[in-house]
Amino acid sequence: MSSANLFDALRAAFPADLEATAVETTTADGQPLYYTWRDLDRGSARMANLLASLRLPEGSRIAVQVEKSVEALMLYLATLRAGYVFLPLNTAYQSAEIEYFIGNAEPAVVVCTPGNFGWVSKIAFTAGTGHVFTLGDDRTGSLLQRAAHQADAHTPVARTADDLAAILYTSGTTGRSKGAMLTHGNLLSNAQVLKTYWGWTATGGLDGRGDVLIHALPIFHVHGLFVAIHGALLNGSKMIWFAKFDPKAVIAAMPRATVFMGVPTLYVRMLAEPTLTREAVCSMRLFIAGSAPLLIETFKEWQERTGHTILERYGMSETIMLTSNPYAADARHGGQAERRGGTVGFALPGVDLRVVGEGGAALPVGEIGGIQVRGPNVFKGYWRMPEKTAEEFTADGFFKTGDVGLMDERGYVRIVGRSKDLIISGGYNVYPAEIEGYINELPGVAESAVVGVPHPDFGEVGVAVVIAKPGAQPDAAQIIATLKAQLANFKIPKQCFVVAELPRNTMGKVQKNLLREQYKGLFA
Ligand code: ATP
Ligand code: MG
Repeated sequence: MSSANLFDALRAAFPADLEATAVETTTADGQPLYYTWRDLDRGSARMANLLASLRLPEGSRIAVQVEKSVEALMLYLATLRAGYVFLPLNTAYQSAEIEYFIGNAEPAVVVCTPGNFGWVSKIAFTAGTGHVFTLGDDRTGSLLQRAAHQADAHTPVARTADDLAAILYTSGTTGRSKGAMLTHGNLLSNAQVLKTYWGWTATGGLDGRGDVLIHALPIFHVHGLFVAIHGALLNGSKMIWFAKFDPKAVIAAMPRATVFMGVPTLYVRMLAEPTLTREAVCSMRLFIAGSAPLLIETFKEWQERTGHTILERYGMSETIMLTSNPYAADARHGGQAERRGGTVGFALPGVDLRVVGEGGAALPVGEIGGIQVRGPNVFKGYWRMPEKTAEEFTADGFFKTGDVGLMDERGYVRIVGRSKDLIISGGYNVYPAEIEGYINELPGVAESAVVGVPHPDFGEVGVAVVIAKPGAQPDAAQIIATLKAQLANFKIPKQCFVVAELPRNTMGKVQKNLLREQYKGLFA
């Protein structure tokens, strides 16, 4: 029987020379550490055999909350091989959160760090989990001890494209995280599209040896786990792997790499390093950003400093990648090749994307509305939330992303905010991203967030929260006065606060729900 197991496709892309380096990293005390393709194959086979020996029911979830390590990557591959469902959890989550996730997902196996075994195993066993293993970031723990006794060959279990491969909990930016159910077909189809669209090469790149990816993202999220890892594996490309993001170390590795992916804050932090020069990036082919909006200032500064134009793309846990600025001329869009700052580019091949108005009808080009998508990449639904799933799909099978934006006359998509962050002031829609764009241009302003709070006359009004550039002291009243000269009155935030930092979750996303909560009493 032919199988659509994602692992088969990844394994088929391993280079012929299995002794070549697949992952280059360092130990906690800075010693270089190399993993070959054979190591990935055998290590994941042993773990897959261990999982198989547990005789878990079909569809079992393997919940994993461990520090980033190559063994954790092997565990992901092992879960695919064994035909189970990988469920990664943010390493920042504490007991209340883990209790929710484990209670909600009911995993058959939980893998945690040796240091957390006490409390995690208690939660897991209470929730009915049969097996709790530990995995340290220094190759310690019971998972590897047990796997060491297993055979190092394993035949992947047959899966259909529609079988679940992973459950990814959303980042919880707008509320409680939801488990997005992703299939083998979702993951593979998206990875294949990106491989072509971003020009992954197995023969070009450094000295004709193909692309080398710098992997400095966490691996519990769609960006680091799927976009980055699948990109490299499906191309048989080496990864230079960082357990934590360290701007100096990443810049120092660039002469040996060709591709980098990061959330916007990583770019901001690298720009603060004097070692980021044209010379340092001379072997790099592509810089990709996403997961949160890339400020136009960062986009421009990166261009000036490095000569490279960051390629911004857009996606979400529920859909993996949806849109991307072009890597090269896009024949579907008249050969346009420009990576336009402030946009997230074109809908990817195979993705139907439309912008709809209040009633659900598609809007003309240039008008702002809800973004809906359809395609082989779109998830199966929210784990154990059939009603929520039904609500978020239209009758004709489009998924409502919850993001608000427009498509311009050239086909580029621009995101103006999330529908939950929209402000309706005196009956008018105010799009936070528009106002933030103006505020960010003002002298002394590094960044800003505009949120809506209740107001007795207008229903809602905007409040601006501003972060100053180092050494600057922008004046809140002056900011409002300047905006008044530029924008319609209903768009002007009624109050402005200059603060030290914005609340962010571990993916670097601004948590506007916390800001709304903080300022909700201002006009009440
Ligand atoms: P939750 O759904 O739990 O509130 P979340 O939406 O932040 O959390 P993710 O699935 O990790 O969880 O993030 C997807 C969201 O990130 C998108 O819906 C979009 O709002 C935002 N996003 C991703 N890429 C970009 C981008 N390039 N520009 C602007 N926003 C982006
Ligand atoms: Mg979301």
